[in-house]
Amino acid sequence: MDIKQVRADFPILNQQVNGEKLVYFDNAATSQTPLPVLNTICQYYLKENANVHRGVHTLAERATEHYERVRQQVADFIHAASSNEIIFTRSTTESLNDIARGLGDNILQPGDEIVISIMEHHSNLVPWQELAARTGAKLKYIELDNHQELDLNSATEQITPKTKIVAVTAASNVLGTINPIKQIVQLAHHAHAWVVVDAAQYVGHHVVDVQDWDADFVAFSGHKMLGPTGIGVLYGKQDLLNIMHPVQFGGEMIEDVTRQRTTFKKSPLGFEAGTPNISGAVGLGAAIDYLNKVGIKNIEKREQSLANYLLPHLQKIDHLTLYGPQDHHTGVFAFNLDGLHPHDVATGLDLEGVAVRAGHHCAQPLMHTLGVTATARASLAFYNTKEECDQFIQSLVAVKEFFS
Ligand code: PLP
Repeated sequence: MDIKQVRADFPILNQQVNGEKLVYFDNAATSQTPLPVLNTICQYYLKENANVHRGVHTLAERATEHYERVRQQVADFIHAASSNEIIFTRSTTESLNDIARGLGDNILQPGDEIVISIMEHHSNLVPWQELAARTGAKLKYIELDNHQELDLNSATEQITPKTKIVAVTAASNVLGTINPIKQIVQLAHHAHAWVVVDAAQYVGHHVVDVQDWDADFVAFSGHKMLGPTGIGVLYGKQDLLNIMHPVQFGGEMIEDVTRQRTTFKKSPLGFEAGTPNISGAVGLGAAIDYLNKVGIKNIEKREQSLANYLLPHLQKIDHLTLYGPQDHHTGVFAFNLDGLHPHDVATGLDLEGVAVRAGHHCAQPLMHTLGVTATARASLAFYNTKEECDQFIQSLVAVKEFFS
């Protein structure tokens, strides 16, 4: 990977913050957007902008063709069997809510069980909690093992013949871990349960093959994979989308409307009520082009090598607690410094030009399990460098010394 050339595509990285060279280590919250993605969105507005699936004029056809071409691109990118299995949403959050409402509300009975893991982001937790409350189903948790990784023994215990839905994240946004999705899918399918995978922190960092996973549903967000905000994806197996109900109603998703009744289109359009985020989809397509050009395997290798470099440096800092496993990590590092509030750590780092996140990372039950209310979190992307890792470590030591 020619890192100089890559970084030239991300001008936002080349700036000073608080008089220091910016180190952007908040990639798990949102990734930066390269010039080809911005240019594609700009060209779309300059040459193609029109509403989709409505007009017969040339611009409407261009916009529709582009929007549907991206749907196929997404299907290819995650190895879906058909582009009909790709629904554009606003975000991972919306995708997961759509499944909980559109499928969960119709299949769950009192006494049924939903199994999620304790490391879930609130967007893969609260919709299931609400679904359980609406239907009388029970929400159960897969716990962590001694290394703070997902405990497969706990998964085996929690998934039972009563389980109807298992929802887990493919990669944690806190612990720096990757979960054994194929094994979880096998356990769930053995119990005749459906599996929902939150791939928000996985897509764009690793090769995704939804058919190899055999996942029933997969959700992810464009803004965490170099795309714009406001565009997300819901993948669902065709036969399940056929029984899922739309949760939003209105223009374009209908087949026929009479005074009293409406019939709906099949997937995907039946799940995309109203004017969709067309330019967002166009940007997502350009992001996929960019990721493919750099190569997902190259990205995975580079991020892993940066993570392997950072891990021992962080562990060497006295009075620092690193969460998650200690012998390997993805590019996500949640940590605390003894006696310091993570917000103070993040503010101190910001003064040094280093952007990290502090808080509960939308994972409060996980924070309780870890025995904290919040942590600081540094998260890497392939466009980061070893020099930035060094600057981060130096700044962290400086912040620690300032407060001691
Ligand atoms: N799931 C995980 C693991 C995440 O890290 C996030 C965002 O941080 C989400 C879901 C929610 O993504 P969005 O806010 O784009 O809906």
